[in-house]
Amino acid sequence: MELHQYKGRLIIHTGSMFSGKTSSLEKDIKRFKIAGYNTIAFKPVVDSRYSKNEIVTHDLTYMNAILVEDIDEIIEYCDELKPDVIAIDEVQFLGGELKNIVNGINEFLKRGCTIIVAGLDMDYRGKPFEVIKELMPISDYLHKHHAVCAKCGVDAWVSHRKSDDMERIKLGASDEYEPLCRKCFLEEKNKMNNI
Ligand code: ZN
Repeated sequence: MELHQYKGRLIIHTGSMFSGKTSSLEKDIKRFKIAGYNTIAFKPVVDSRYSKNEIVTHDLTYMNAILVEDIDEIIEYCDELKPDVIAIDEVQFLGGELKNIVNGINEFLKRGCTIIVAGLDMDYRGKPFEVIKELMPISDYLHKHHAVCAKCGVDAWVSHRKSDDMERIKLGASDEYEPLCRKCFLEEKNKMNNI
């Protein structure tokens, strides 16, 4: 197929954990596939929580994804397979230099590919992930998703880590994190500082 409305467009699904980012990415991929576009999904290899070659959402639905280390691998695959639509899940874990990731994505967009990325906007301390920070302003469609605050039930803002581990990327089962709104997050932080 030739022209379509999302040609050369960047679609972002971001937000905290448990906000439905990956499910939304999957839904987009399904729609592009139904529309007949050659679609490929990638996932950084670091996220091997549940299974190898599938993107797994927290509600345990899954789809096939190619595991990659960095943006260069994605470029290699795409040069060969020439997809119309490229999806990257958990983009904050993608290896390689930030500028290479951004340049790579811009290059695909220039060629007319549709890019869909899903990724965390902030780490567990409320600090932005650099790649999402770079991509958000240049996106065409930006969706910020919200989980539900585990303490008070309003829209959550951040994925709070319940343990005091300082590692930025810590993959684990859902019980290590809880989505919190800003107010509850600040209260938790104060509590921790007072211990
Ligand atoms: Zn709250």
